[in-house]
Amino acid sequence: MNVVDSMELLKKYANCAECGSDKLGNGEGTLDIADNVFNRTCKCGYSITIDKRIKVIASATKRVGRKTEGIYEVRIDDSLKHKYLPVNELKELTGIKRINQFKKVEEWLNTKEGRKWAIETPHVNDF
Ligand SMILES: [Zn+2]
Repeated sequence: MNVVDSMELLKKYANCAECGSDKLGNGEGTLDIADNVFNRTCKCGYSITIDKRIKVIASATKRVGRKTEGIYEVRIDDSLKHKYLPVNELKELTGIKRINQFKKVEEWLNTKEGRKWAIETPHVNDF
């Protein structure tokens, strides 16, 4: 998770939403920021997880002449607006053979390189 997001979440969840405690460690509460998942727990039982990993929601393909074109519909961070990414490019980048290999695609999209690509690649409009 990048520093800006981490800081923002730390600030937002510094105090437990249930009991107001701002304590961490020594059994008072925990904080775990790994990859793009933020988790904060409190001794009162409160726990919050924010998952900002890229997720593949769906895929679609169609025939264009003799070729097959397709898109992966992905969610980036917690944005409500989904993005369509080109299947053929992702196949080359990830080495997948079949479009239903969502797990492999997600894994790659959540690498540093993949995340950059997913953010910079323009949304496929005509699908
Ligand atoms: Zn609490």
